[in-house]
Amino acid sequence: MTRPLIEAPLQFRTSSGGERAKHNALITCPKCEAPSFIRRSTRVTERVKHIDAHCTNTGCGHTFGLELVFRHSYNPGLLERPDLDLPVCPRDQVPHILPPERGRDDPNQITMFGSG
Ligand SMILES: [Zn+2]
Repeated sequence: MTRPLIEAPLQFRTSSGGERAKHNALITCPKCEAPSFIRRSTRVTERVKHIDAHCTNTGCGHTFGLELVFRHSYNPGLLERPDLDLPVCPRDQVPHILPPERGRDDPNQITMFGSG
């Protein structure tokens, strides 16, 4: 007997995972919107980087150059660099960005040990 209730979440996971990968691509081809690889990046100044990219869509094959420009700091961080005079984002516009977690420690594991 087949159980559609089990198949449904699997299908959902597959499609949403594909969507996420597409939206997470650092560079998107402006012509076909396929994810694009970064071939090379050149630091022009502390605030500007030039990036050479190529589209992963073999039916497109677009290669292009991008300019990555520093916009503003959300959290100035721990280092003092007054020489850079970096603009700071207004407080009410700061998005919730967390630095990547160190290692792959599962927070549930700590809870398990703590309450165990
Ligand atoms: Zn393309």
